[in-house]
Amino acid sequence: MGTPAAVVWDPALLGYDLGGDHPFNPVRLELTIELATQLGVLDGVEFLRPELAPDEEIERVHDAEYIAAVKEAPMVGWDVGHGLGTPDNPVFSNMHEASSLVVGATLLAAQKIASGATNRAVNIAGGLHHAMRDRAAGFCVYNDCAVAISWLLDNGAERVAYIDVDVHHGDGTQAAFYNDPRVLTISLHQSPMTLFPGTGRVTELGGPDAQGTSVNIPLPPFTRDPAWQRAFHAVVPSLLKEFRPDVLVTQCGVDTHEEDPLAELYLSVDGHRQTYRTLRTLADEYAGGKWLSMGGGGYQLLRVVPRSWTHLIATVLDRDVEPSTPLPHDWVNNVQRRAPNAILPRTMTDEMDVSFEPWDGTVSEPVDSVIRDVRHAIFPLHGLDPDDPRD
Ligand SMILES: [Zn+2]
Repeated sequence: MGTPAAVVWDPALLGYDLGGDHPFNPVRLELTIELATQLGVLDGVEFLRPELAPDEEIERVHDAEYIAAVKEAPMVGWDVGHGLGTPDNPVFSNMHEASSLVVGATLLAAQKIASGATNRAVNIAGGLHHAMRDRAAGFCVYNDCAVAISWLLDNGAERVAYIDVDVHHGDGTQAAFYNDPRVLTISLHQSPMTLFPGTGRVTELGGPDAQGTSVNIPLPPFTRDPAWQRAFHAVVPSLLKEFRPDVLVTQCGVDTHEEDPLAELYLSVDGHRQTYRTLRTLADEYAGGKWLSMGGGGYQLLRVVPRSWTHLIATVLDRDVEPSTPLPHDWVNNVQRRAPNAILPRTMTDEMDVSFEPWDGTVSEPVDSVIRDVRHAIFPLHGLDPDDPRD
């Protein structure tokens, strides 16, 4: 028997559709659920069916005036302000309802964990981490991550740790809790000098009441799995051990992949799988086994996202899929019908070796200077020694 775990899913979540050629295409979710189903990962799993989050829950992290603007936007058309009606955040019909359902899905996952009904839950439609209190940004209308964390804090959790492994800085979630010492936010992302949203510097440490609870690990473009893993392991486990969250919340964007069209980190599906397994271990060791996981970015819609998030769902369910597992013929045929020119992988692996050299306190690669800077900025604020690799 594995740990009880829940998967939140409803095809209605495909309604969060930014339309046209927009990269945030819901087909990525549809193909993920199909792949996980055909691999048997979801055998016997009954989906938790979300409902729209009520306005008062969304108002935990968004202004009422902004929510009103989202509701009215499809009627107003353009010039609605609040970041809406832009190329990144086009207005679409039922925008408020579709966005509220994403929030409702992550909230349902949080509620099931808080009630003790399950220890782990995953919502691959969630992770809309760029949405700010009064505006949409980076394809995100409402910040489901922040709503769920706020709800957890009001329902029994004293401390929540949020780890964001999307290629972009988790700026909206960081901003929501920047001066709240109860929330530790950690974001690993491509360096802000080279990528949207341009924040996530090492020096963003948290507000005056929460110094050291905002942690940013900006990585150079072209970083690959071994360096990414080295940075993660040099910073994250020590902080979780010290912070002792009641729940671990993770945004698992997969736009870090080498083939992703929107960014320049060079990770693999194997690296993603390894990270999910690490997050699971960290939740078990330092968060009482409580792990709420969401999707996020990821724009290689056919070759990357379905495989990576199938690994995520499988990891949450303790049904880990071997990397060498072939992709099911029916799934491949279905994708090939919809995208006749796509060249699909054959298996659940990119055949990348995920082993890495742990950080040893010296600087020998570009990532090591990032590690040194982050540890020197953050570790003393948690009573940890930035120069001791055992910390
Ligand atoms: Zn992203």
